[in-house]
Amino acid sequence: MIYIWPKLKDMRQKIVAGNWKMNTSQAEALTLAGELVDGLNGSETATLIVCPPFPWLVSVKAKVASAGISVGAQNCSNMEKGAFTGEVSPAMLQSAGISHVIIGHSERRAIYHESNSLVADKVNIALKNNLSILLCIGETLEERNAGKLHEIIDEQLTEALKSVSAEDFKSIIIAYEPVWAIGTGLTASPEQAQEAHAYIRTKLAAIASEQIAENMSILYGGSCNASNAATLFAQKDIDGGLIGGASLKSEDFLTIARSF
Ligand code: PEP
Repeated sequence: MIYIWPKLKDMRQKIVAGNWKMNTSQAEALTLAGELVDGLNGSETATLIVCPPFPWLVSVKAKVASAGISVGAQNCSNMEKGAFTGEVSPAMLQSAGISHVIIGHSERRAIYHESNSLVADKVNIALKNNLSILLCIGETLEERNAGKLHEIIDEQLTEALKSVSAEDFKSIIIAYEPVWAIGTGLTASPEQAQEAHAYIRTKLAAIASEQIAENMSILYGGSCNASNAATLFAQKDIDGGLIGGASLKSEDFLTIARSF
């Protein structure tokens, strides 16, 4: 019998990503980055990604790259280039050596009215520019209470991924972030999170294929911290976390990174 070892990118990865949001001065960002590098002890089995604010992307990358920590932006434009004041294009991120970008975060959906269609445009242009994507999806409390969890997941995934090729699914990480759990201290229970993640994987199988869905990483986000990460990450379909508040403390972020 010939055993064909799967290509590394074809295997589901454990990932812990930190979303620093609009926090940190330049000095604070570099201190945090330095503490992460110094704090690694080799027992971290997950891929680590940090997503600082735009102005610190390049300097943080210079600090963490040699330690194997990847750097992502928190947003990107849906446009290639031109007269779009204040926007940052995926091509710019790519040329600055940034490998990842968060797209569809609930704060952008809610505060900046980003629609599923805009999210889809951003996904497509980011893929075209060879960025890996952390695609955020998740329901509000009203939607959950109205029994619309699956409907919302269906809509958000179907629209965002409708033009993605089989090959490009390898560059997509899903972050399930129930809106009611983000920054609120209310975490989804491991059972609630697992149920949603399993549903997302089934939906990905329907959109792409079972094999693609099996190989995709689905992260949990929403008040995940050093105390609850291990129980969440122990769930079958939870492959890591997208961490907001707790990613601003190096010790907490590193504890989460070791919670598998
Ligand atoms: C987030 O904003 O992606 C997030 C998960 O935030 P927090 O961990 O603070 O809830």
